[in-house]
Amino acid sequence: MVRCVGDPVGKGGYVRISRLAWGDFEIAGIADARPAPVDPCRSYPATSPADWEPHRRWLTAEGQFQPDLGCFLLRGPMGVVLIDAGIGPGPVPYLGDADGCLIDALAALGVAPADVDAVLFTHLHFDHIGWASLPDAHGVPRPAFPRARYVVGAAEWAFWSAGPAGVMAHHREAFARAILPLSAAGVLEVVADGSSPVAGATYVPLPGNTPGHQGLRIESGGARALFVADLCHCPAQVAAPHWSHRSDVEPDAGRLSRRHVFETCAEDGTLLAFGHFPRGVDLGHVRRDGAGWRWEPRATLA
Ligand SMILES: [Zn+2]
Repeated sequence: MVRCVGDPVGKGGYVRISRLAWGDFEIAGIADARPAPVDPCRSYPATSPADWEPHRRWLTAEGQFQPDLGCFLLRGPMGVVLIDAGIGPGPVPYLGDADGCLIDALAALGVAPADVDAVLFTHLHFDHIGWASLPDAHGVPRPAFPRARYVVGAAEWAFWSAGPAGVMAHHREAFARAILPLSAAGVLEVVADGSSPVAGATYVPLPGNTPGHQGLRIESGGARALFVADLCHCPAQVAAPHWSHRSDVEPDAGRLSRRHVFETCAEDGTLLAFGHFPRGVDLGHVRRDGAGWRWEPRATLA
């Protein structure tokens, strides 16, 4: 059993899952890990402690910021689809030697690695690609989901395959360990931004966290869902979309992407799914709140 960092929930440690029946789909929000809490002003360098006072409900009891490092499993007409792939088995030195628990979480949902039909990446930061490849018995990295197609958008692939200067080393190392073996095995598909990687899902460019960062739009029976990954890292950003998390590569683009998504999705009722919101508040709706917006979770914790 994989050791996981975080609250000891579930048999293996930190296994925490949100579940929601939605149209023809079942959506499971899986926390691969939860890192140690940090000062929110460290994660959002332009904010002060006073800025966080109206948003205390999104912090721990001690006023700390503690996001989940999550991904989503979809089961429905398009098969079994994983949106992003967590931090990996670890230990991950950048996260205090945290280990991910995605495979345990999938097992708890009755899903074996060979059941996964597609892995769709929103972007290629280290905390979204970790389980993509695993070493075989000889230590050679192989695709971890042996039947799956792996898909990434063209702009994101171009950014990372160019070896971007100024990007922190743990991201580049994860790219080399988890993504390049997919490319070598011939199972990584690079698709046009805004295209449809699987029937029923469409990529939506949402640049900011990375230049090629994309959401995934799913429609079912007139209902809409948009998996927005790292559009925000904390629900407080729905009310404060001008705040930028320190991992944002293009902060100005991120602000525009947030406002665009909130403006449109507050109108049409799209279900939103955030990769880093704690499980239980990771699925929900953006609602109008005066001149701005607020986050309204749908209670789903399994
Ligand atoms: Zn992330």
